Amino acid sequence: MALLRAGIEIDAYCTRCRMDLTHRIIAVVNNKPVKVECRTCYGTHNYRAPKSSPVPVEKATRGAAAPRAPKASARRSAAVEEHISVAPPPGARIHGYRMTDKFSRDQWVSHKVFGTGVVTQVLGDDKIEVHFDGVSKVLVHNRPEDT
Ligand SMILES: [Zn+2]
Repeated sequence: MALLRAGIEIDAYCTRCRMDLTHRIIAVVNNKPVKVECRTCYGTHNYRAPKSSPVPVEKATRGAAAPRAPKASARRSAAVEEHISVAPPPGARIHGYRMTDKFSRDQWVSHKVFGTGVVTQVLGDDKIEVHFDGVSKVLVHNRPEDT
């Protein structure tokens, strides 16, 4: 089974163009694309399986909660290790990470230790969740300059 990674192109349903189109993978978690960029409208959105997919993944889980969280019992270790892969789209603006800056969702950041990542969640006024290549981190942001 091929390992999905950020940067490669796959077919996905574009929520803006409203059709199946080629998308570049922006972020992968546990070998599933989570964020993609449409090669037609260059919009970035969460991954949707192609409507014309011969095996619609949504069919089996219709009505049920999205199977996002991996089953804890699947691994012996209590800490579930996620496989994360991200790649900024060409031309993406990448902001150098500083804890005094304020970041918003889907923004690209460059971190001295973790490399380039994308903000996946804003956790209140002072924390953000960022997916870097291989790791998800919670970082401080929007911190006052003089502490
Ligand atoms: Zn599109």
